[in-house]
Amino acid sequence: MALEDKTLTCRECGQEFIFTAGEQEFYLSRGLQNEPKRCPECRAARRRERWGSYGDSRRVYSVVCAACGVETTVPFEPTEGRPVYCKECYAKMKESGELDLDKS
Ligand SMILES: [Zn+2]
Ligand SMILES: [Zn+2]
Repeated sequence: MALEDKTLTCRECGQEFIFTAGEQEFYLSRGLQNEPKRCPECRAARRRERWGSYGDSRRVYSVVCAACGVETTVPFEPTEGRPVYCKECYAKMKESGELDLDKS
């Protein structure tokens, strides 16, 4: 059977995109039955997101907990002037509601 370019609608951004015959062939050769649900841009964005969240998990920042002084690592860059807490202290403060003081 001959494959033809298909126009599909991305369910993420609603844009139409072409599912080319070549891509369909590739899908078939991989045994994939489902047509892509997202346009190439959204697929790339999702891939970046996934890699970003996993790949960057290795990049941690070494900080000293402002509450107990233990050295710990956080997955985000600490903001200067803002206290950073270790997991235990953060959980404790969250429980006690002390972190809500930040909002005022
Ligand atoms: Zn899209
Ligand atoms: Zn601590």
